[in-house]
Amino acid sequence: GEGTSALMAGITGDAGPAQRRAIAKAITLLESTRADHRAQADELLTALLPHAGNSLRLGISGTPGVGKSTFIETLGLYLIGRGHRVAVLAIDPSSTVSGGSILGDKTRMEKLSAQDAAYIRPSPSSGTLGGVAEKTREALLVCEAAGYDVVLVETVGVGQSETAVSGMTDMFVLLQLPNSGDDLQAIKKGVMELADLVVINKSDIDPAAATRARAQIQSALRIFGQHGNPEHGGHDGAVWQPQVIQISGLRGDGVDTFWDAVTRFQNLQTANGRLAARRQQQSLAWMWERIDAGLKQAFRQHPGVRANLAAIEHDVHQGVLPPSTAARRLLHLAGLAEPAG
Ligand code: GDP
Repeated sequence: GEGTSALMAGITGDAGPAQRRAIAKAITLLESTRADHRAQADELLTALLPHAGNSLRLGISGTPGVGKSTFIETLGLYLIGRGHRVAVLAIDPSSTVSGGSILGDKTRMEKLSAQDAAYIRPSPSSGTLGGVAEKTREALLVCEAAGYDVVLVETVGVGQSETAVSGMTDMFVLLQLPNSGDDLQAIKKGVMELADLVVINKSDIDPAAATRARAQIQSALRIFGQHGNPEHGGHDGAVWQPQVIQISGLRGDGVDTFWDAVTRFQNLQTANGRLAARRQQQSLAWMWERIDAGLKQAFRQHPGVRANLAAIEHDVHQGVLPPSTAARRLLHLAGLAEPAG
């Protein structure tokens, strides 16, 4: 429609206040739950897609207090100084539960948000993690179409949110504290094995501890590598091996080392085809994730299911109906399976 073309023109137009307004408007449209807005949003995304894809998508995670916002601000300013345009998006898993916020969006990254070449968008504030992740992926495409060439997607650790961020970015970076058992927590949650790069932050406080942590994590990563993580393993030519570096986000020490590692990752994974393959696989996974969510919603809304769900759940709860039979009965009521006994 007409509104969509005007938005498109604003997004793909020159950088400046008008573009920022168009981006904000587009993201608000994407986050709307109204059906007519969704139709417009789908139209906008389809039009945007040919203009998207030209950024490096970097996921950044770590526990609260590890120094994510400090580091993102330092990195963002460094990149803007080198001529990049930087967008920062966030997935706040607490917002999906309580509508609250662990990422605390108010006064974060003040210097970065004052920059014309930076765009910072807080986490979508409600819905399931899958829903919030979908909005963030779509916002990422809007930022790319607007010419932001580095997109940082930040999250805080609850396992699933890190998987979601890793599933929408080219490279997943895990921030760690030296000397805190942080590494064991990350291994337990299955987050360490997602990391393409582990960054030991706050190295200024105790450099020796940071160096020890680095060696420890590097050997933990080698073990994951040996288990043949498909993202990192394989034997077909040069493939990125996860690395560990030390920085101080507060002082800005090691930011150049960080960016150097990111650039090497990007060059290598572009040359060996893994970066493109990862994006293709992510797009299909995204489609199926949304199909699953849509099917589940349609299933729950089906009149036959709504009429019988409580009674069938009760029978399963009481142990008088086998769960698999109950599932087949409900799927049949929704017209999705053959009759069950
Ligand atoms: P976030 O919760 O992960 O976003 O962490 P913040 O960026 O808000 O940082 C938490 C606290 O750690 C703040 O008081 C920062 O000033 C401090 N901090 C962050 N990075 C460093 C660092 O590299 N060195 C030191 N000494 N403190 C840091």
